[in-house]
Amino acid sequence: MDILTLNYVNLFLGIAASFLLILLYKQNKQLFLLYWFFASSCLWINSTIGIFSRSGFDLPYWLNPAIPNTCYMGIYLFLLAGLYEQTQRKFKVGWLLAIVILTYAINLTELAQASSANRLLLNLPISIVLNVMALRLLIRQKNRELRAVYICFSMAFLFNIIQLCSRYILFSLDLSGIFTQHSSQIMIGLGYFAITAFSLLTFGSCLYLVYRQQHIALQHIADRDALTGVFNRWLLNEKLQTELQRSQRLKQCCSLVMLDIDHFKQVNDLYGHVAGDRVIAHIAYVAQSELRGYDSIFRYGGEEFLICLPNTDSQAALHIAERIRIQVEQSCAIDCPQAKATVSVGVSTYTDGEPDWQHLITQADNALYQAKKQGRNQTQHYQHLVTQDL
Ligand code: GH3
Ligand code: MG
Ligand code: MG
Repeated sequence: MDILTLNYVNLFLGIAASFLLILLYKQNKQLFLLYWFFASSCLWINSTIGIFSRSGFDLPYWLNPAIPNTCYMGIYLFLLAGLYEQTQRKFKVGWLLAIVILTYAINLTELAQASSANRLLLNLPISIVLNVMALRLLIRQKNRELRAVYICFSMAFLFNIIQLCSRYILFSLDLSGIFTQHSSQIMIGLGYFAITAFSLLTFGSCLYLVYRQQHIALQHIADRDALTGVFNRWLLNEKLQTELQRSQRLKQCCSLVMLDIDHFKQVNDLYGHVAGDRVIAHIAYVAQSELRGYDSIFRYGGEEFLICLPNTDSQAALHIAERIRIQVEQSCAIDCPQAKATVSVGVSTYTDGEPDWQHLITQADNALYQAKKQGRNQTQHYQHLVTQDL
């Protein structure tokens, strides 16, 4: 493909990406989409000037090649700024402007004006640094849900770093006279092709990111209870079954904690349903803050919660349950401090044998019943109850 055709391809790609990204930004209002819109705009501005220049228009140096070279840098800069924004890191807009102006100024120097090879040798190191910064940022991301997206972006930047470094080395050899045949034109052609491939890879990654984010958001709505943000009951069956099967396979204990707010009807009657809702949300928050990353908490009923504690024996489960009970007793919902509440807690533990999550829930429920019966605001473990209590 000749360079003019590649320019047309990049123009089309840039316009299509800009159009889609601005539509997505209007819909989602996420700043990184706006940054990437600017990145794709840099691509089509670069290509437009390239098309005019290769179609025989006599453009002044300050317009061509100084502006397309600056736009090239703009693509990397805006992509990087978007990645910083998306991964919730601070990116100074001042830096962005400074590098754009610096690039333009470098391209106006006499050295840059002397030859296209010089310009490439001056621009390539800045491009490489920006690409390495993006790759470093992506590699450091720990978000498991977006891991596949970050891998796609990383591939795009890795590809670009390799092609930029290879071209830089080849140009240096070319300038030092090691190559007898002048290879600048081939290198420039390869550069255009590389930017097409890089744009396709990054644009694909952007769309994949937006798709994944929407998928995660929908999943969140489907899995979570709207008032408290903890898992809803739909997931209970699947999650408990998986956890108990894992416990059986690994020969580990697994405990369930069932929690019910004491005299909650009175809270509703005294302070109203809105206050009641706040108390429920507060207790869910308190319980969640006492748990480890791999524990799960479900809203089991109106004001009842069920907690699954993998790899936790009865003593440890009792300890965690008591911690939650005490924290609830000692705290109150910030937006409704007058409505103090306590909870009664029932615990059961799977140790070995055929895992039966429904049986384990019944045991936790029985222990909770005993906690209520014996005066509320306390924790009982099913395995510690005397037989006549049941
Ligand atoms: P006990 O100590 O025996 O548990 O007494 P209780 O009054 O808490 O009894 P119970 O657990 O049966 O009470 C459930 C009450 O919780 C009934 C219902 O009005 C209230 N409730 C259930 N879901 C919600 C909710 O989402 N918001 C509010 N505000 N109240 C709810
Ligand atoms: Mg209840
Ligand atoms: Mg209750």
